[in-house]
Amino acid sequence: MTAHISFFEQVNRSFDKAAALTDYDPTLLGQIRACSSVYRMSFPLRRDDGRIEVIEAWRAEHSRHKTPTKGGFRYSHTVDEDEVMALAALMTYKCAIVNVPFGGAKGGVKINRRDYSDGELERITRRYAFELAEKNFIGPGVDVPAPDFGTGEKEMAWISDTYQALTPGKLDAAACVTGKPVAQGGVRGRKEATGLGVYFGICEACAVEEDMTARGLSAGVEGKTVVVQGFGNVGYHAAKFLQQRGGAKVVAVAEWNGAVQDPSGLDIDALDAYRQEHGTLIGFPGSTAIEQPESVLEMECDILVPAALENQITMDNASRVRAKIIAEAANGPLTADASEHLLGRGVLILPDTFLNAGGVVVSYFEWVKNLAHVRFGRLQKRWQSQAYHGLLKAVEDMTGASFPKDVIQTFLRGPDEIDLVFSGLEETMAAAYSEIRQVKGRLGDRADLRTAAFVVALDKIVTSYEDLGIFP
Ligand code: NAD
Repeated sequence: MTAHISFFEQVNRSFDKAAALTDYDPTLLGQIRACSSVYRMSFPLRRDDGRIEVIEAWRAEHSRHKTPTKGGFRYSHTVDEDEVMALAALMTYKCAIVNVPFGGAKGGVKINRRDYSDGELERITRRYAFELAEKNFIGPGVDVPAPDFGTGEKEMAWISDTYQALTPGKLDAAACVTGKPVAQGGVRGRKEATGLGVYFGICEACAVEEDMTARGLSAGVEGKTVVVQGFGNVGYHAAKFLQQRGGAKVVAVAEWNGAVQDPSGLDIDALDAYRQEHGTLIGFPGSTAIEQPESVLEMECDILVPAALENQITMDNASRVRAKIIAEAANGPLTADASEHLLGRGVLILPDTFLNAGGVVVSYFEWVKNLAHVRFGRLQKRWQSQAYHGLLKAVEDMTGASFPKDVIQTFLRGPDEIDLVFSGLEETMAAAYSEIRQVKGRLGDRADLRTAAFVVALDKIVTSYEDLGIFP
């Protein structure tokens, strides 16, 4: 066993490693590193059977160098103050890395959602929103929550509805939370955004031939073997896109109550349908059950995608990890020590601060949509379609040839909201990876991708502070 280092300290270790490679004022670095505020609350819940239970919850706002602050909130029976502070800090750096104009925040409610009915979850969520509103810890320009572990569209709809009830007539109230259902002001593509971003990020990394060759791999995602831990929102979508868009082979998937493997590749949509029906992955036709779900972390594979919770790979199991690439879909799945150990063995680690940023990128699009009060694509779709039509026709007239029907159809349709959201996400992930690699190139052996990503974040956050004139 290794000595216990808190999650927030783990994040700060990565921060310090990057900070040591910069010349920034230590006082300013100290200000960036600190967590601005944490609101701890406890409130009563009447259970369906009449009992009263006290629920503990938190919201941490790590940095207000840009407002609103932004970050998900989770339902987890292991969440505590340290955890929300660490996750809020990661959000600060993540937002800077992918250029979305937010500070970092995170919330947590200490429950296991499986122990509560839908009605109880609704009462908890609405009360949580009420507590946040009462202390000015939520609002379109203040702090904007989103989905995270154990929460999804339904919880976001309850938050939005509660906030709107408390702020009658507030025009931008729907922008108080993102990840809402589309009918409640959500944006198309938010649900799959984090997993899709993970896929885009992995594609970018796998396209770098020298990084692949150094690990005995060929460039590209196609044909690579993948193991996924956590088959929730992020894990499911990452696995789905890796298989369906990338042509990768997902050879094992783990959930808290069991894991399955199939060396010839699992059909991700069929596996999801099976789990929804049976409540477990075990028994999925054609697969073999794995007794200890956590052992998937040690399976031989090209890409390991931890997509459940933090602290999954520690010094206790790092030496048995055999993946060549670790794609941090979850926040903080590797401890700082384990990360160093694996880097020393030549494993390519795609850091959480970059790789799972797709969620906040598309949340940003949703927030902008709510403030603009118009769906993306609504203004330009018809104009673009007609412009393309004119262009294609001119080419046909000049050449005497005709475009194939399917080409014409693709162009003439014009972009829908989901096309714009997905292409905006892809562009953001590609640009961020290129920036991180550039910084890594400049720093040479002193920086791995995580450290380079932190330096990218620091450069931008320091500039914001300088712009504010607080630390000239
Ligand atoms: P989720 O609740 O939808 O899914 C998590 C899944 O992991 C669940 O199915 C759960 O049963 C499973 N799980 C829990 N413990 C496990 C274990 N020990 N082994 C295997 N599986 C286990 O949550 P999510 O939104 O997919 O979040 C997963 C991770 O991704 C978290 O670290 C979260 O902070 C991070 N993340 C989420 C988003 C987002 O948009 N939802 C964005 C960025 C990062």
